This record gives sequence, structure tokens and C-alpha cells, in this order.
Amino acid sequence: MKIVVHTDDAEQWRAALSKALPNATVVTSDAPEEARQNADYLAVWKAPAHLLKEQTQLKGIINLGAGVDYLLSTPGLPVDVPIVKLRDAGMGELMADYVLYGVLHFYRSMDCYADQQTSAEWQPQRVVDKADWPVGVLGLGAIGAYVASALQQAGFPVLGWSRSPKTIKGVQCLHGDEGLDELLSQVQSVVAILPDTPATQGILNAERLAKLPQGASVINPGRGSLIDEQALLEALGDNDQPGHLRGALLDVFCEEPLPAGNPLWQHPRVIVTPHMAAPTPLNDAIDQVISYLHAFEAGETLTIVNSSQGY
Ligand code: NDP
Repeated sequence: MKIVVHTDDAEQWRAALSKALPNATVVTSDAPEEARQNADYLAVWKAPAHLLKEQTQLKGIINLGAGVDYLLSTPGLPVDVPIVKLRDAGMGELMADYVLYGVLHFYRSMDCYADQQTSAEWQPQRVVDKADWPVGVLGLGAIGAYVASALQQAGFPVLGWSRSPKTIKGVQCLHGDEGLDELLSQVQSVVAILPDTPATQGILNAERLAKLPQGASVINPGRGSLIDEQALLEALGDNDQPGHLRGALLDVFCEEPLPAGNPLWQHPRVIVTPHMAAPTPLNDAIDQVISYLHAFEAGETLTIVNSSQGY
């Protein structure tokens, strides 16, 4: 079995896969062309088009992350090769940490204290009951469901939304357009953990952001395309004329890296992080990759990425 690896920490992945599969040939994508060719499997994150185009006998592609938007839009992606993606694989816990940080930031008025500190103002803010601070999670997949449960266990009422109906203990699960409107009208923070697909692009547009209650906040570690950034800026307003949204914690953007001139960088109530919410943890993910390889080799039925749905 030959596997070609392409990701930021490809050498660590190559070493870990070689150790776990001593009979396999594992090479990184910067190996000479003849060593890369005729791979059985690609284990990749943001693979260059040439790596996909040059393969002739692939049996499967393993996406070393949860989002497949980049892979699906890479020219040269073979149409008939099954793709599997990482499901949770340690990313749920990292994402839950990130989202909890964001929710607590707004819930415990850390945004107000940062503002007050600029003028040495000593003014404790009232702490409302968590029961009065519902949080909405858009996307209840492997990571979204983990985050929804973590928020619920932290004491927040949680409303979740997905394409198909779901049951998650302690979470009010909604679906469909009406479900989305219901969720948005009730939550103090909305968290977007949806994939980037034709159906989700711009889902948080001006109209939907306006459905959030006055003073709500937006947390987006999903994909930048989910939010209309201009509509978000307008809903936030500025210090002279605050809008109806209180603030935002954003990890992902329509253009990454976020260009220096983008007004989101300068907005006093926006926190920008550089797409770091839940990087794939190799030690947690390696077992899942190995089990995918064994399952492919054994001809087992795998849950593969649905290219037409885009996730
Ligand atoms: P999954 O594929 O497991 O789940 C996706 C969820 O989104 C499912 O619940 C699905 O609904 C729902 N969904 C998809 N399309 C729609 C739609 N049109 N309307 C309503 N719901 C929809 O993904 P993960 O949970 O593993 O990851 C989610 C996303 O998080 C990734 O695609 C990626 O973009 C992002 N991510 C970001 C990271 C970061 O560091 N910033 C790290 C990891 C992931 P259903 O269950 O009905 O199919």
C-alpha cells in the first residue's frame, strides 16, 4: 500500500503512519515525482492540484480535517474516488474550548471590562443567570454536536440547528428554515459550526442577523463564507452609533489571511483569531486515519463525503 501525505506537519504524519503500518510505503508530497506516483491513498489537507491530477490508481482520499470545501474545489480532484474526512478526532474538544471562551467572554462582560479599562473605569456588570442566556449552535455534526453538549454541560440552555432532525441530550434540536428563525430569535450568542457549501454560503445575512435579539453576539469558527461580513459590520455599528449586535468572535473569514485593510481588524467589538479554533491533533486523529485505511483495504462500507451536498 502506498500513501502520499500532504499537510502542514506532513513529516510527523509520515513518521506516525510508517510506524503504525510497517508494510506500507508512506511518502510526503515533496518526495520526487516518481516516489509520489501510483499512490493507493492520499492523506491530505489543502493538497495542491498537481498532487491530485498526477495520481492514476487512487483507492481513496482521506481529508486530514473536518472541512472538505478546499478539497472539493481543487481542480483535478478525481470524481470517482471516495473521500472520507475526519470526524471529531479530537477537534470537538478544541472547538468546545474555543466556543466556551467566546460565550463566557460575552456572558461575563469581558468585552465591557476591556472597554472600561481604556478609561480606568471600575464598574462591575450584573451577572445574569445562565438559564437566561441561551446559546444557539448552527451545525450539529461531529464537532457541532460535541460543542452543543459542552455548552449544555456548562449550564447554558442550548438550541441546535441542522439540515436533518437530530436528538442530542439536553439540547433543543431544530431544523429547516423555521427552526433557524426560531433559534435566532431566542439566543444571546449564535455559534456557526456549519460546513461551507452552496446551501450555507451567506446563511447569516443581514435579514437573519436582524432576527437575533438586541445585544446578541456572533461566534464563527465554521467558515468565513457563512456570514455576510458587510452585513455583520453594519449590524455591529460603531462606537458612535452602536448597532443591534454586541460583538463577534471570528476565527474564519471570506479571505484568509484576513487582509490588513479589512475593517474587522479594527472593530472595537470584534475579536479576530487566525483560523486556529480546532487544528487537527495528530495524536487523536491518527487512529481514525489508520482505521479508514484498514476499512478501505477490507472493502468495508465507509461514510463518504457527499460531493454534491458539499460536506
Ligand atoms: P459535519 O460534516 O460532521 O457536520 C456538519 C453539520 O452541518 C451537520 O449537522 C449538517 O446537518 C449541518 N449542515 C450542513 N448543511 C446544512 C444546511 N444547509 N442547513 C442546515 N444544516 C446543515 O462537520 P463537523 O461538525 O465535523 O465540522 C463542521 C465545520 O466546522 C467544518 O465543515 C469546518 O468548516 C469547520 N471547522 C473549523 C475548524 C477551525 O479550526 N476553525 C476546525 C474544524 C472544523 P446534518 O447533520 O443534517 O447532515
